[in-house]
Amino acid sequence: MKDQRLVAMRTANMYRTHPQAKYGFTCATCGEAMCLFPSGQRILRENPGIELCCEVCFDQIPGPKEYSIPEEVFQETIESFDFTKRKQ
Ligand SMILES: [Zn+2]
Repeated sequence: MKDQRLVAMRTANMYRTHPQAKYGFTCATCGEAMCLFPSGQRILRENPGIELCCEVCFDQIPGPKEYSIPEEVFQETIESFDFTKRKQ
């Protein structure tokens, strides 16, 4: 069986968020807080127990990595908004 992980951003490193983003997830490797956009929430629903991995830990995995980006990520990017603008 393949070693599959769901990769998402650390909450601390996010500069954009999505109206339906969910917080309160943690990286299985480093324990940092993570946030899942709806596409990530769907993958978690469809693959219960999949290991969560933040982008920093993902970068540190040695060797070639295969990854797939769900189609809806492109739509989520359009729907997401800049954190920094909310503060103004
Ligand atoms: Zn991590």
